[in-house]
Amino acid sequence: MGGSLQLDVSKYLEELFEVYREIDTEYEKIASEYGFGCSGCEDNCCNTVFYHYTLIEYFALLEGFDNLPPETQKKSIERARDYVQQLNRYRMREEELKIMCPLNYDGLCSVYEHRPLICRVHGLPGMLQHPKKGKQLFSGCKRFEQQHKILEEKRIDRTPYYTQIATIETRLRQDMDYMLKFRKTVAEMILDRNLLSYRII
Ligand code: SF4
Repeated sequence: MGGSLQLDVSKYLEELFEVYREIDTEYEKIASEYGFGCSGCEDNCCNTVFYHYTLIEYFALLEGFDNLPPETQKKSIERARDYVQQLNRYRMREEELKIMCPLNYDGLCSVYEHRPLICRVHGLPGMLQHPKKGKQLFSGCKRFEQQHKILEEKRIDRTPYYTQIATIETRLRQDMDYMLKFRKTVAEMILDRNLLSYRII
């Protein structure tokens, strides 16, 4: 049989958090150029269904989840179960579903430092130079669209961040010898975290 299944992912997480810092800096810069901010917004974007596609962001989210007080973890797992039950009724038409992320409490993200890339860039208009699909454009959130006209030179270019995260992901997967596709909402990630606590005996 093969060697140890243990892998220290902390070096990959450090690299990911460096990319996250770059994203946050860019977001702040562009938001201030527009004069755009989230405070006072009644339309919380954490009620949009997003899928996440990388193991490294999954591990980051789990680190944030594991740092939460046990009671909050328990509550979040219950919320995640309800979330996925509802989500299952909207598979393939997720954009019709508005449902609050199980990690949002009183309008705030409980894993703010560990939140995934899409949670960081959502809100401002963006673009991505996709290697296969070509140039993709993203509108801002509803509040942004109501308040501002998109200026082409003031879009968050997601390309360097996606590229850097994809590079980290590739190395991580090689080290893990892992090749399955990953596509999960935050709620599904949390439920999987719980799954890992079970042992087959
Ligand atoms: S992880 Fe945090 S920022 Fe992202 S949707 Fe959930 S509560 Fe909102």
